[in-house]
Amino acid sequence: IFAAVEMAPRDPILGLNEAFNADARTTKVNLGVGVYFDDNGKIPLLAAVKAAEETRVKAGLPRGYQPIEGNPAYNSAVQQLLLGKDSALIANGQVITAQALGGTGALKIGADYLKRLNPDAKVYISDPSWENHRALFESAGFVVENYPYYDAATRGVNFDGMKACLKGLNAGSIIVLHACCHNPTGADLNDAQWGEVVAICQERGLVPFLDMAYQGFADGIDADAVAVRAFSASGLQFFASSSFSKNFSLYGERVGALSIVTAGKDESARVLSQVKRVIRTNYSNPPTHGGALVAGVLASAELRAQWEAELAGMRDRIRAMRTGLVDAIKATGCAQDFSFVAQQRGMFSYTGLSAAQVEVMREEFGIYAVSTGRICLAALNTKNLDYVAKAIAAVIKA
Ligand code: PMP
Repeated sequence: IFAAVEMAPRDPILGLNEAFNADARTTKVNLGVGVYFDDNGKIPLLAAVKAAEETRVKAGLPRGYQPIEGNPAYNSAVQQLLLGKDSALIANGQVITAQALGGTGALKIGADYLKRLNPDAKVYISDPSWENHRALFESAGFVVENYPYYDAATRGVNFDGMKACLKGLNAGSIIVLHACCHNPTGADLNDAQWGEVVAICQERGLVPFLDMAYQGFADGIDADAVAVRAFSASGLQFFASSSFSKNFSLYGERVGALSIVTAGKDESARVLSQVKRVIRTNYSNPPTHGGALVAGVLASAELRAQWEAELAGMRDRIRAMRTGLVDAIKATGCAQDFSFVAQQRGMFSYTGLSAAQVEVMREEFGIYAVSTGRICLAALNTKNLDYVAKAIAAVIKA
C-alpha cells in the first residue's frame, strides 16, 4: 500500500535544526528556529509557570476529560488577555473561545470551521507570512493567495499595496493578519494603519482572522493587542488565534485558543456548537496540563504580576540583542547600516541577507538562518553576539 508514496518535502525550519544538530563546531549558532532562549541559550521555565505547576502537582488531580472546548477558566482568561478585562463584547456574550493545541491548532480549527461556513471563500495571507499559514488553510481546502505586505526597499510595510489589494477583494474573503510581531519580517502596522484595515474590512465585508502568537513580545500585553482591540471596537465579527508557546514559554505543552467574536449571545451559542463539532471530530477535547498552568498563573494576582515581569524580561532581552547586534555590526566597520534591526518588532528580523549569504554563514561560520534572511533575535546572547555580527559583516563584504 505504500509502494508509490513519494517523499514529502522537508520542513525548511525543522530541516535546519537537523543540520544544526549534526554540526560539530562548538561556535555554531542556530538563528533559524522561532524559540526564545535566555542569555545562556536555554529555553526558560518561567518562575510563575513553575509555581502554578507545583500547586497543580501537589493537588494530585485525576485526569478526566475536559469539555470539548477546553478549560472554562482558561478560555475566559484568554478572552480577557485578547480583548481586555472590561470588554463589552465579553460582557455581552459575543465572544466564544475554545482551548486549542497551540496557535497552530487554533488556526486549524478556525480554518476547518470557515471551510464549512463559507466553502467558496478565498484566503489571503501576507507576502511573506509564517510558512504554515498557507499550508494550514490549503489543507483545510481553501485557495490561498497573498496580499502585498513587506517592502524590501523601506524594510517596512507596503501599506498602499496592501490596502489596494484588500479593497479589491470579494466580500467574504478571509484575510489572515498578524496581530503583532509579524513573522517573518518584524514589520508591523501602526495604530492608524490598523484603523484603515478595519475600515476596509467593514466596507468590503471581509472576514478577518487575527493571529496572535507573540502577545507581549513587542510592547506589552495590552499594547500588543491594539489590532484586536481596533477590530473589537468596530462591531465586526472576526476570528482570533492565540498562542502561549512564546509568552509562557510552554512550546511543547501546546497551549493556544481560538476565539470568535459574533454579533450576539444567541449567535455565539450556535457558532460554538459548530466549532465543537470540528473539535470533536479532530481530537475530541484538548489536553489539561498546559491550559491549567496558564489559567493558574492568570487567576492569581501574584503569579500574573510575576509572569508579566518575566515577559517584560524576555522582551527587554530581545530589544537589547537588537541594539547590540546593530552596534556590534557597526563596530566591525561594516559599511551597511543595520539600524533597521532595532526598529523591527518581536522575535524576528528580516536582515536582507541573500540565500547565498545565508549559505556562506552556515558553511564558514556554523551560523544557521532561514534562506530568506530571517533570523531569530531571541537566539542571540551576550556570548555569541559579536561572533554573529562579525560573520554578518564578513558575508556582506565578500
Ligand atoms: N502563528 C505565527 C505567526 C507563528 O509564528 C507561530 C509559531 N511560530 C504560530 C502561529 C504557531 O504557534 P504554536 O507554536 O503555538 O502552534
